[in-house]
Amino acid sequence: MVKLIIALEKSIKHWERLRAGLEFKFGVSDCALCSLYNTVDNRCGNCPVYAQTDELGCVDTPHGDLWDHVDLVHVQDLGEGTVANCTECQKHIDAEIVFLKSLRENDNV
Ligand SMILES: [Zn+2]
Repeated sequence: MVKLIIALEKSIKHWERLRAGLEFKFGVSDCALCSLYNTVDNRCGNCPVYAQTDELGCVDTPHGDLWDHVDLVHVQDLGEGTVANCTECQKHIDAEIVFLKSLRENDNV
């Protein structure tokens, strides 16, 4: 439980840094929740995101929307200044932060 709360808060901070243009990657290796739950043996199984969406790999979340957008428009690269200049990126990141914060009150967490 304590590990989960720490990972969720770290993940929220990570997304806030993405939004501020201080970080540029948002893959498995960049996420504290993935580090804890996206294991070979139990992929996403106990992650609060999975508990909420029933989808592996954050597919059915704003993360998935951002991933698709970045893949299509920014050629898989959130380089310096990208988020600051792209309202679509900002929209998805803001939505992900709201989504992650909503997990704080989830009974599954
Ligand atoms: Zn963008």
